Amino acid sequence: MAHLHNAGAAGGFGCPCCAPSLSRRQFLCTTAVATIAASTAVSAIATPALAQQPPTGRPILIKGGCVLSLDRAVGDFEAADVLVQGKTIAAVRPNIEAPNAEVIDASNAIVMPGFVDTHRHMWQGFLRNVLPDGSLDDYRTVVQRTFGAKMVPDDVYAANLLSALGAIDTGVTCVLDWSHIQNTPEHTDACIKGLADSGVRAVFAYGAGQNETGRVWEIATSKYPGDIARLRKQYFSSDDQLLTLYLAAGGTPEAVQEQFRAARDVGARITIHVGVGEGGRSAFLEKMNAAQALKSDTTYIHCCTLNDTEWKLIKDTGGTISIAGYVETLMGHGNPPTQKAIDMGIRPSLSVDVETSVPNDFFTQMRTVFSLQKNEVWARRLAGDKNPPKFLTVREVLEFATFEGAKANGLERKIGSLTPGKDADIILLRTDQLNVMPFNNAVGAVVTSMGPQNVDTVLIAGKVTKRDGKLVGVDMARTAKLGREAQERNYKAANVPNKRI
Ligand SMILES: [Zn+2]
Repeated sequence: MAHLHNAGAAGGFGCPCCAPSLSRRQFLCTTAVATIAASTAVSAIATPALAQQPPTGRPILIKGGCVLSLDRAVGDFEAADVLVQGKTIAAVRPNIEAPNAEVIDASNAIVMPGFVDTHRHMWQGFLRNVLPDGSLDDYRTVVQRTFGAKMVPDDVYAANLLSALGAIDTGVTCVLDWSHIQNTPEHTDACIKGLADSGVRAVFAYGAGQNETGRVWEIATSKYPGDIARLRKQYFSSDDQLLTLYLAAGGTPEAVQEQFRAARDVGARITIHVGVGEGGRSAFLEKMNAAQALKSDTTYIHCCTLNDTEWKLIKDTGGTISIAGYVETLMGHGNPPTQKAIDMGIRPSLSVDVETSVPNDFFTQMRTVFSLQKNEVWARRLAGDKNPPKFLTVREVLEFATFEGAKANGLERKIGSLTPGKDADIILLRTDQLNVMPFNNAVGAVVTSMGPQNVDTVLIAGKVTKRDGKLVGVDMARTAKLGREAQERNYKAANVPNKRI
């Protein structure tokens, strides 16, 4: 069998082509011709609505970078090339010859999969840092019941577009939009259009609406959750596109059971906040389990104050989790449960959650869970614990930020690692800048030292969306105007003076 990747660099992890359970990957690994043929065939059956158009033209050769594939079978390389054919990664190994390819020089860069965010309320995209000192109660009052209650479809379009472009700019190539702003079907259409226009890979998680009282089930114009059937038909009939569909659930156990049914009726996965602050101590998941509603199709967000039985239920039913460590420390959700998840044998994914208090990049998220977990272990040692847990490593944190995110977003077959056959969601992080040069440890540089300023180039499904530190094909003047207009309109509607000092 002809191997495109360098199996010898796998460091004893074995070759994916030889694993019997990976038949699709095996097929895609076999030859470059097979890879191209497969991607052409898949694109031919895509539906037109939001179907992913493969980039036309020449292959792209990312040349001479320090490659962190995040796939143990592919391995890492001091210097190697990544060949992108259409929307797909065709090969990852040193010295690839591709005479027709457009070359991206990566000799001063780390090349790795894009970051994957598993929970962000993107409708707040023009309310960034509006609540830097706020608690969770303040957030509900100000962001949800004051600003959110008054948002119109044009506002949420601008917000989603801004948040999505910001994600791409910081190397987050896939983001789950936890979208509880669906006051009308027009809000929903606008949210989806904002995501589609940005070029990001996104999971649209269809949620409820916002109003002044917080009793969101009383919003007469809301079609939640039933409208998810329309969304499946109108926008998400194909999986071969950048946007995929989830349901964002919340409320009483009875209401959530109905929402879960609506999601499962259309084959959508589910995302839900649990274990948040005092309110998270209601044994909610035990009640859901009594109704036999817990399955492997669900991502549980925060999980800070769940009881041990609930943790076991998540583990036993095969759910995934999302830790938004930075906001959890700021706003009173409870201690980010990184160690608890590890103790339970669950590898967490990470999320930004709210740009109203949290920076939009993943470097912050990685460093938060890294330092908090280590602090917890040191504290136990200092307290005389003779059998403390292991320290988290930077590589584990990088896996949380990429591969585990892909799993929680239901996309592990497509993204999350630089694996031949997967979609080409790739970032180049500059190593010739003053915060890391001359770098000594690639994974350490990314997790402990880098920031958004190192994000030089971004590819999503083989399309270059950022190059030389600048977004490609984005009209920044139009984007800024949309954001400003939405901000002014929303402040006025919410009767909040628009003062920045
Ligand atoms: Zn949230």
